[in-house]
Amino acid sequence: MTAFWVQIHNLPFPLQTVETAFSIGETIGPVIKLKDLSEMLGANFVRVRVIVDVSKPLCRGRKIYWDTECEGWAAFMYESLPNICYLCGFVFHDDKDCSLCLHSKGTLKLDDQQFGPWIRAPLFNPAKKSVIEVKGYEVLNKGDENMMILPATRVDCDVPGL
Ligand SMILES: [Zn+2]
Repeated sequence: MTAFWVQIHNLPFPLQTVETAFSIGETIGPVIKLKDLSEMLGANFVRVRVIVDVSKPLCRGRKIYWDTECEGWAAFMYESLPNICYLCGFVFHDDKDCSLCLHSKGTLKLDDQQFGPWIRAPLFNPAKKSVIEVKGYEVLNKGDENMMILPATRVDCDVPGL
């Protein structure tokens, strides 16, 4: 069990909330509650500190549903990842030491990789965030005033098979 900051990308703007971060984070593992919730809001993503079971491949994302008809893919990126195997998604070994690789005797190609460098999140920079957040606020005000903030309880998550 290792605690990671997981960034949740691809969320529609109304779902970029602390509540959504909690509901999606809970599908990865136990969420660590913070005193300062603003740390969970990035420029165009949310982030959540989760205890991850590293005896399984890292989760790349979740299919999400909201507003009865909408669905999408919430993509996960992990901050400060140690080694990760791009073939099987396990942390703490890399492709060279992968049992998947060893079993297949080198028949696995780059195309077979289910993971890539995109799984590594850039380091979170709160100072940079606040500047971008102001811009986002202005854009929001010019947009649709009737935009609804959806209750996070309506976000359902799917656990995709690998
Ligand atoms: Zn591996």
